[in-house]
Amino acid sequence: MKFLFRLVCCLLVALSTGCVTERATGLHAPQRATSAPTPLLLISIDAYRADYIQRGLSPTLQRLADQGVRAQSMQPSFPSLTFPNHYTIVTGLRPDHHGIVNNRMYDPTLGKFALGHSTAIDDGRWWAAGTPIWETADAHGIRTATMFWPGSSADIHGHHPDYWIPYNGKLTAMQRVDQVLAWLDLPAAERPGFLTLYFDRVDHAGHDFGPDSPQLDAALRNTDAALSHLIRGLRQRGLFGRINILVISDHGMASVPRDHNIWIDKLIPADRVQTVSLGVLAGFNPKPGHDFAKIEAAMEKPHRHMRCWDKSRVPTRFGYGKNPRVPQLLCLADVGWRITSQARLAVHRKVSLGDHGYDNADPRMQALFIAHGPAFRRGIVVKPFPNVDVYPLMAHLLGVSPMPNDGSDEAVENMLEPASH
Ligand code: AMP
Ligand code: ZN
Ligand code: ZN
Repeated sequence: MKFLFRLVCCLLVALSTGCVTERATGLHAPQRATSAPTPLLLISIDAYRADYIQRGLSPTLQRLADQGVRAQSMQPSFPSLTFPNHYTIVTGLRPDHHGIVNNRMYDPTLGKFALGHSTAIDDGRWWAAGTPIWETADAHGIRTATMFWPGSSADIHGHHPDYWIPYNGKLTAMQRVDQVLAWLDLPAAERPGFLTLYFDRVDHAGHDFGPDSPQLDAALRNTDAALSHLIRGLRQRGLFGRINILVISDHGMASVPRDHNIWIDKLIPADRVQTVSLGVLAGFNPKPGHDFAKIEAAMEKPHRHMRCWDKSRVPTRFGYGKNPRVPQLLCLADVGWRITSQARLAVHRKVSLGDHGYDNADPRMQALFIAHGPAFRRGIVVKPFPNVDVYPLMAHLLGVSPMPNDGSDEAVENMLEPASH
């Protein structure tokens, strides 16, 4: 029945914005506060590279930065991929610690995880090593609503956000904004105090046409128009200036010329390993009957445009390799290159002209951070900081105790109004 409800819900969402899935609230009703004193809205513009703001195509974002706080950039966690970093932002844990170590994973118990496999994505067991901020907020009596966020459609520790929507990429940026405004229009007792909003057009344009394309610029304009619609809606409700807003991205985007291919099938015969992922970060596990140590020894030697390591020898600055879901052998392409094979090319004929997942210290992988609202100082620019720091900041803004995490308070302390410390 629940499944059927969700299915109908998905179909409705495709047609309108009015459909939300709400967890039964009776269990929590007696302890609930009406809402957090100052609501917090976390906005992600997927793959908005730190320097895109300088193109002059994001006037609304620029105004938010001018009247609030902007970081010169924010460093993604490794690997600079969507699912790992979105979950880092809401848990404060590096991917190696929260377990979403890639967009494509293999787990001996759970099997395969990949974007588009909604059964895996919605299975809370994949996400259980982290506690997303919506779960903690909920435990403190704050209602939560997610207008998409990786993990929000999964039953994590038996919890969903109070309001959430099954992922549907067809929902336009404006429709997503309207849904957030509709949640803010709910009566006080039902209104969320923590909300997310997710945009992915900039990511799609970056992959399909590259970061320097006119299509990318059009996506920047489109997303900014949606943000302008949001700010207008908040002003009309007397909420702008009374809500804390974070606008972040998960990672940047690098141009990948069409012919920058590293042919992995020339180096590792496909039938001798289990291939978990290809692309920017390739991962391989041993296959019974084949000498994996020999394959590793050959792969760990220098290669053009790529470095490979056994997971125990990944450079420590990546903070990556201890999680059982990280494949035994990792190969990371140099920025601007892709690891592929003839077999993969036969399936995925469309070649990405932009990509991410690379070394998280590379300038092209750096992400966006802008904060605006009553808790924040106005008109300041702060030094780069790692994205694990966003979680303790959000816990502070919501007045909830953070779960143990990899972040620190230092970097974000000087962006807060003194009264908010
Ligand atoms: P990637 O660029 O490969 O790291 O993945 C980004 C893509 O993941 C987006 O462009 C979306 O198509 C997809 N995506 C984002 N959020 C979700 C979600 N919550 N559930 C399923 N797919 C998502
Ligand atoms: Zn992304
Ligand atoms: Zn992407």
